[in-house]
Amino acid sequence: MQHRIHTVEDLRDWITPTADELQGIEATQDVFRWNITPYYARLMDPDDPECPVRRQVVPRASELAPDLVGVVDPLEEVAHSPVKNLIHNYRDRVAFCVTSECAIYCRYCLRKRMVGDADFMMRREEHQAAIDYIAAHSEIRDVLLTGGDPLTFNERHLEWLLSHLRAIDHVEVIRFGSRMPVKLPYRITDDLCAVLERYHPVWINTHFNHPKELTDDAAAAIDRLLRAGVPVGNQTVLLRGINDDAATLRALCEGLVRLRVRPYYLYQAQLIGGTAHFRTSIERGMALMEALQGTTTGFAIPTYVLDTPHGKVPLTRSYVQGRAGDHVIMTTPRGPRWAEPNPIPSGEHTAYALPVMDWPDGIDTIPTEAATFAA
Ligand SMILES: *Cc1c(COP(=O)(O)O)cnc(C)c1O
Ligand code: SF4
Repeated sequence: MQHRIHTVEDLRDWITPTADELQGIEATQDVFRWNITPYYARLMDPDDPECPVRRQVVPRASELAPDLVGVVDPLEEVAHSPVKNLIHNYRDRVAFCVTSECAIYCRYCLRKRMVGDADFMMRREEHQAAIDYIAAHSEIRDVLLTGGDPLTFNERHLEWLLSHLRAIDHVEVIRFGSRMPVKLPYRITDDLCAVLERYHPVWINTHFNHPKELTDDAAAAIDRLLRAGVPVGNQTVLLRGINDDAATLRALCEGLVRLRVRPYYLYQAQLIGGTAHFRTSIERGMALMEALQGTTTGFAIPTYVLDTPHGKVPLTRSYVQGRAGDHVIMTTPRGPRWAEPNPIPSGEHTAYALPVMDWPDGIDTIPTEAATFAA
């Protein structure tokens, strides 16, 4: 962590930054933190700016391009937080954003509004307040520790958190969302595994996006977790030009299964300002899923989902109803219909088309306007 790259000068030891990247680094300085672990930097192609690893972590001028804004928090997570950083949007489970620190700041991050921002750091009393809330709500049986990245904490603090959660009778499952196996696999130490093992059932979902990230070091980190009895799942974000083609997605999912990691979710990229260059059409994602279906191991296939204020929606023919202009219309498992702003990127080709619909009356959507994100 101390050797992370966060100046252009350091970056030049690894890659030859393009003018576009240099402009992105300069212009996003005060908008969203930037740094890269040496481990992950080594995976970047020094000569190819379109390298799928490089694009995830090196800012680009496109982060400043006009985008739909007004969507700092598209899932209304703040409204669903009864105490600071604890999101209670499903009856029986909570997402507890224990820290705003990450090892690397992914340029498409869903929680840009808080990640890397010191205001969202939590003090011990704030962690305690969230634990008290969980203890007082006997319907919560599943606690997801997320962030930021909870494995940025040291073992002592993790032990403190886990022991307090385990002391609550109705908490059945504790799970982590962490990208450490991908960005800094050496963080998965024997000491860490020994702590996790004491509080079972503990699960981890990690976040590989591309087969290039499936290195021997990452495999060793996964192996340590599995030996400690921690089941490992993976959540991928569908990213334009990075993993939005069938061959890449298949190689990723099959590679994960070889490491004994279960592909869990494939997320449609959320409408976060400054990330338009990463988003694909929902049609493209659905076509990719249909290409995997029946042509590989069943458990190598993740569920393609979109998160909405009404919860996650599986993007399948049974929920997705059609397209009304720049919006995709769907029903949600909870009932209300949802219209996701999802303009088809110019030049994008998909083999799959949704039924064309008129704009339905009384439908819920995100109010958006086109503007410049970093202005
Ligand atoms: C995704 C999510 C969860 C966990 O949902 P699963 O579908 O059980 O993985 C919990 N809380 C929030 C707020 C979430 O976004
Ligand atoms: S690891 Fe997750 S929370 Fe951290 S920057 Fe990446 S996407 Fe955001």
